[in-house]
Amino acid sequence: TADDDAIAPDDTIPEAGEITWRDGDVPFSPHFGDVYYNPKDGLAETQYVFVEGNNLPSAWQGKENFSIGETGFGTGLNFLAAWQCWTQDADRSGRLHFVSVEKYPLSREDMIRAHHNWPELRQLSAELCEIWPRETMLPGVHRFILGHGAVSLTLLIGDAIECWSGYEGNIDCWFLDGFAPSRNPDMWHPSLFAALAGASNPNGATLATFTAARIARDGLESAGFVISKRKGYAYKRDMITACLTSNDDAVNEDTGKYEIADDPWFNLPRKSTTKSVAIIGGGMAGAACAEALHHRGCDVTLFEKHDQLANAASGNPIGMLEPYLTVDHAIMGRFYEAGYRYSHRKIKPMAERGEVEADFCGVLDLATSPRKRERLDGLVARLKDKPDLVRPMTRDEARDILGLPVPVDGVFYPSAGWVHPPSLVRALTSNITCQLGTAISAIVDGPDGKMLLTADGRAFGTFDAVVIAGALETSQLEQTRWLGDHLNPVRGQISFCPEELVSKSYENANIGCVVSYKGYLTPARNGLHVIGATFGRDDDQTDLREADHAHNINQLGKIFPVLAEKLSSEVLDGRASLRTTTADHLPLIGPAPDFDRYLAAYHDIDKGKKGARYIGAPYHKDVYICTGFGARGLIGAPLAAEILASEICAMPLPLEKSLMHAVHPARFIIRGLKRRQISA
Ligand code: SAM
Repeated sequence: TADDDAIAPDDTIPEAGEITWRDGDVPFSPHFGDVYYNPKDGLAETQYVFVEGNNLPSAWQGKENFSIGETGFGTGLNFLAAWQCWTQDADRSGRLHFVSVEKYPLSREDMIRAHHNWPELRQLSAELCEIWPRETMLPGVHRFILGHGAVSLTLLIGDAIECWSGYEGNIDCWFLDGFAPSRNPDMWHPSLFAALAGASNPNGATLATFTAARIARDGLESAGFVISKRKGYAYKRDMITACLTSNDDAVNEDTGKYEIADDPWFNLPRKSTTKSVAIIGGGMAGAACAEALHHRGCDVTLFEKHDQLANAASGNPIGMLEPYLTVDHAIMGRFYEAGYRYSHRKIKPMAERGEVEADFCGVLDLATSPRKRERLDGLVARLKDKPDLVRPMTRDEARDILGLPVPVDGVFYPSAGWVHPPSLVRALTSNITCQLGTAISAIVDGPDGKMLLTADGRAFGTFDAVVIAGALETSQLEQTRWLGDHLNPVRGQISFCPEELVSKSYENANIGCVVSYKGYLTPARNGLHVIGATFGRDDDQTDLREADHAHNINQLGKIFPVLAEKLSSEVLDGRASLRTTTADHLPLIGPAPDFDRYLAAYHDIDKGKKGARYIGAPYHKDVYICTGFGARGLIGAPLAAEILASEICAMPLPLEKSLMHAVHPARFIIRGLKRRQISA
């Protein structure tokens, strides 16, 4: 907690993210001229101001979920104090969620040093520092799961006002921290208080802050908070607590959300206490959803029509775990960038524990055309201070690493690599009841919840929620039939290249990283390199084709002609599977819209009526969709599962609002209505 009496900045303005140390291990920001917390007793001040100021622990007692929002994560001391209090409370809520914003995240080393001051927090600090990324954190939402799944930490990396304005929070109480208002006036701005009010639980929220500065009092009041003054910590005269009362008129009974939100058609149903969930589909998406829900204490059953899991694209022996970075950082790039970091953080520890077969050997991405050169240059320019994510690599450097001539320059993604998708699907479902050989043909409402039916007359259930993660077949149920027009098959064939053919082609070759060009060549796994992949649009057949092998060899030949030449005279083995794509190349993640009721409810939105009151989004209650990852299941499905599990269990979301809307299944209906392509 910062203090108005701290030392003023000197003439040369230091970088905003820079820290120095005071009194041993107390972090200080020379830019803001303020300490991160009270040097004498930061933990006691945090407990007094934020924890007690928000009436914790009693405020969370008796609740399934409790969400704390914060401005300025800093060293995480407030988080650790809240987490400690929660752990020690026998009557605590089922889960604790902490959502914080931070513009200048501390490095792991600095965080460890800052926590030295609090031996009583040692265990929790160790857990936090363990998951705290070693690499630099890019702007956006970062989700971490702690406390054996009971605690979530969601970090919004970026500016407090922007981040909190763009995040759908449902926050129960606020820790309004940040350097002193006089030293950080940009943050203590009326739009911040309005953003906090907007991200609060509509049924009411509390707030506490260390300061009683006028800017905070006035700002909070005009955002609708009712203010109380309280004795400040130690020598400080006053501090503020506040509360936001519930706005019953504006709450929609079905959705629990405001009716006149900007986009009511994307409002999420988030008030159920879900315990038993059925997943339809045993590929990467279904497996990831199963694990994410199981991790939250749900009783999960996974239904797969084949006799084994991972039959389609997730049955490939190697899948690239490569970041999808874009120069313009537009919506698709932002989604898959978030997806990549989520997958990477999830899969790497699983691989280290030996649960998943993977190799984080790096990916070399070659500039195979002037357009690609331009794109890669743009990427390096955008991320020039993030060499741990992407850095330029010349053809000479690439040659030295691979031991064979490389014709063009490129970039290297050091954290990337490959995964054996079937081992990941297996690991994700290791504690899940799997109902194999069971093709679900209908979801119906029973007296106690959802029932799943098969064509041969079997019935399963009941379930509190159902997730359909059936790739192309997601649209084969009555509730999702309308999706048929929006899901497209793309056939992909990969070719296997025996390891010895590479050494026969190039004496010193060592394909130790994935090489990505228009296709890709992976390191060998069990004696076979994988060469990928074809993109057969609107082709839903999975037979192995000579022409597709020839295509893969042809692409390879533009980079490694000698190897391609050798391969062309071999009889190759491979694998063909279908990917599911959508027109906007983004997946479908979220509640299943009731198509007819959507048309009826929003039929006139093309007329752009200002201030019109629309009903909250009409869904097929407790039915969810997860599909449409194209060739990017590895970097999309784990995050999608986290999104769905958060929606189903009414937790804070792992993505900002704009991305949540971009992947919402109803977007195609809303677009169709706005463009007058469909009508009621
Ligand atoms: N709560 C922190 C803790 O427990 O260690 C201490 C917070 S420290 C006093 C203030 C934090 O707010 C710093 O980490 C700073 O980088 C961050 N911050 C300041 N202005 C910000 C802004 N406009 N947006 C996001 N974060 C900001």
